[in-house]
Amino acid sequence: MADQVTSRIGQTKLVILIGDVTKQKTDAIVNAANSSLRGGGGVDGAIHRVGGPSIKEECQEYVSEHGALPPGKAMWTHGGNLPARYVIHTVGPIYKSEEGSAPVLRSAYEESLKLAEELNLKSLSFPSISTGAYGYPLEAAAPVALRAIIDYLREGSRLELVQLVCFAKDTFDAYKEASEKLVE
Ligand code: ADP
Repeated sequence: MADQVTSRIGQTKLVILIGDVTKQKTDAIVNAANSSLRGGGGVDGAIHRVGGPSIKEECQEYVSEHGALPPGKAMWTHGGNLPARYVIHTVGPIYKSEEGSAPVLRSAYEESLKLAEELNLKSLSFPSISTGAYGYPLEAAAPVALRAIIDYLREGSRLELVQLVCFAKDTFDAYKEASEKLVE
């Protein structure tokens, strides 16, 4: 299939595809949230819309207990009405410079993967974190995101499937190009 790129990193299948992350049937999907966890536009809005109010309630409980979720960190809620059982909420960087933003973007992917493993999940779907409202240029974000995922999986992971779900063709093209350079 032309609009799908599949590779194997250690024990894990890595798939880049065009689609809607809210429709994915992986054990968890990742939300590109903001620190307040109150929901917002873009993929965050879509996840709360499809998942229903229980996700926001769990987010609010988390914030009243732990405070806001800093950029580069991750937390989880159940998936509500989504096909996925869990939502892993992470906060990407608001893009300022490559030096400042790349480590935070990398951390958002790593912390999400770690949390998925702590929850004993087998499959996880990411959207393209920070490349919408947070302004991270796609061509710069794609290699950082993929490098983070690949490095993590190469260390050895029990995850069987990691998907990068691109909402638009230009997003898919950027991740596909980055993967051709990074996956041997
Ligand atoms: P951020 O604030 O982290 O930049 P956005 O939600 O604004 O997050 O955008 C991140 C990416 O998510 C963009 O590429 C946007 O097109 C994409 N996106 C929006 N809705 C969906 C969806 N339902 N599934 C997958 N990706 C989505």
